[in-house]
Amino acid sequence: MHTDVLVIGTGLAGLSYALQLSQRKPKTNILLISKRDLMEGNTKYAQGGIAVVSNFKSDSYAQHAQDTIAAGSAENNPRVVDFVVREGPSCLEELIAWGANFDKEGKQLHLGKEGGHSANRIVHHKDQSGLHVLTTLIDKVRSLHNVTLLEKHTLVDLITDHHLGEQGGNRCYGAYVISKDDEKILKLTAQVTILSTGGAGQVYENTTNPSAATGDGLGAAYRAKVRIKNLHYVQFHPTALYPKIDGATFLISEAVRGAGAYLRNEKGVRFMEHYDDRMELAPRDIVSRSIYAEVQQQKHPFVFLDLSHLDSKTVRDQFPTILASCQQVGIDVFKEGIPVYPAAHYFCGGIDVDDHSQSSMAGLYAIGECSHTGLHGANRLASNSLLEALVFAARAAAHSVEFMDENPLPNSFFEKIPQWNGTEDISNEKNESIQNLRKQLQTLMAQYVGIEKSHQSLEVAEDRLHDIYMATKALYQENKLTPQLTTLRNMVSVSYLIIKQSQEAKENKGVFYNLDYVN
Ligand SMILES: Cc1cc2nc3c(=O)[nH]c(=O)nc-3n(C[C@H](O)[C@H](O)[C@H](O)COP(=O)(O)OP(=O)(O)OC[C@H]3O[C@@H](n4cnc5c(N)ncnc54)[C@H](O)[C@@H]3O)c2cc1C
Repeated sequence: MHTDVLVIGTGLAGLSYALQLSQRKPKTNILLISKRDLMEGNTKYAQGGIAVVSNFKSDSYAQHAQDTIAAGSAENNPRVVDFVVREGPSCLEELIAWGANFDKEGKQLHLGKEGGHSANRIVHHKDQSGLHVLTTLIDKVRSLHNVTLLEKHTLVDLITDHHLGEQGGNRCYGAYVISKDDEKILKLTAQVTILSTGGAGQVYENTTNPSAATGDGLGAAYRAKVRIKNLHYVQFHPTALYPKIDGATFLISEAVRGAGAYLRNEKGVRFMEHYDDRMELAPRDIVSRSIYAEVQQQKHPFVFLDLSHLDSKTVRDQFPTILASCQQVGIDVFKEGIPVYPAAHYFCGGIDVDDHSQSSMAGLYAIGECSHTGLHGANRLASNSLLEALVFAARAAAHSVEFMDENPLPNSFFEKIPQWNGTEDISNEKNESIQNLRKQLQTLMAQYVGIEKSHQSLEVAEDRLHDIYMATKALYQENKLTPQLTTLRNMVSVSYLIIKQSQEAKENKGVFYNLDYVN
């Protein structure tokens, strides 16, 4: 299959890119693929909303920029922060023009508040912002004639000069993907390839990310020698619901603390006063580490989020999904605290890109959570990731139009690219081993590369990951490639990069915390 633009990932980043590109160049053929159904990815689960300066009486671009840089421990790129906060309002307007509705107070947008924000600036759709935006954009994309949607197809590898047997070239020509239903590997060639594959929280045992968030774009980019940066900045969300629901970790949005909920330890003490003046609304790294520290000193593996003192109507209106999930596990939030603990949530680093989302490989762009733009620094400010996806999707669309106009390749060129040269006809009886290795890797990362690390823990992690790598390699060489196996291969690569970049980090910043650097 050949297309002008191949977009791998149908979250907010991939979909808004496709819409932006279609507005600029309506005749461009765009092929969008997703690993599962179109909906499944981190965007669907985003509750809080999008951080955008909207009320210029109580807020300003400078304040939003300052909050972003304070959360990111000044490891952010200030120029990127500046243009992202300034371009936020026009991206929001576009999102509304595409059909999205956000909660209002009278005629104005209702603006929520979250940790680390000095003003109310979170635009939201109840506590289902991601789900609402995603369904709106999918409807809009489906109405476009230039867009083809291909579900249940998993990226295997990017197609680069390496596949043409050419040394020294540095351009991407599409990707090999594997279909979930018949496990056939397809060659998808394109003038421009967009990675919008989302996060990689699944490399950890406890994560707010859905099971598809395995860092596949990062793994494929790493194999193609594309530059990847800051993977050691893994953000843990302080308040995931304990216990899991149907094996998945459910997030209790930061907006609940923004609305005034308290964190209490098992003795009922509001412990954040011992850690930070901003109390429950301190940045996520501080709240997560504080919970981690409290849990070390008590019997229960969780603390409590208490919202019993809040107005019940407000709670019901603003947090219907959270209420329903708590009810599902038998918690009456008006009478008792919600048990919560930190879980891996967001990757601040990723595929390193420039101001237009271009990676270090020509023709390859990365947008959304799989990218590293410089916005987040060492810690992402709450609700800045949907904003980042929107702003960089628009920028990538503008730039990729120019790139295609200036660097077109003839169709005959793509015909030279070989079909996937894999071991298609050998047996595949190793699904159980793949599952076991995936679990081993998740436990290893949680134990040794979690909220707190040390030189020794990273060394142990490196050693044990090597064993998992060797076992995965053997499976890969002896078995037919399956979506599960290619996913495991990516999880191993991402874990390796997190460990390596953690070892290279020489000081504690933001979410990165090595006990050997304390004091
Ligand atoms: C529970 C939760 C709550 C959050 N709340 C907020 C919030 O309130 N505000 C905020 O700003 N951010 C929030 N975030 C973060 C935010 O949702 C994500 O960073 C953002 O949605 C990422 O969008 P994306 O388009 O980059 O990726 P995703 O939405 O994760 O989409 C990734 C896409 O890539 C596809 N894909 C992945 N691997 C492959 C592959 N190998 N082959 C083909 N396709 C593939 C998936 O199928 C999916 O379509 C939250 C995250 C979670 C998990």
